Amino acid sequence: MTKYKLLYRKKECIGAGACEAAFPEAWFFDQETSIATLKSSSAKKTAESEELIFEAEDLEKHLEAAQVCPVQIIEIIELATGKKIYPRS
Ligand code: SF4
Repeated sequence: MTKYKLLYRKKECIGAGACEAAFPEAWFFDQETSIATLKSSSAKKTAESEELIFEAEDLEKHLEAAQVCPVQIIEIIELATGKKIYPRS
């Protein structure tokens, strides 16, 4: 099954909270820091960014959250090919 990578440029988050509203199972918007974070324990997190590998069955929901982010800092990449699914350049 196809796998995808989500790359979230956390440092650029403006705290809109739209990602959590679109996909609350995957995103948590921290009211105290005004920054979103991925909920999954398998996400790789640094001060700058977060990364998550996920399965095709979650693609639609992750795309929905990426598309509502007003600053487009959530990227989705097809793991095997490196093809950027979102945002399209
Ligand atoms: S939608 Fe984008 S800007 Fe808003 S909290 Fe989520 S990642 Fe941050």
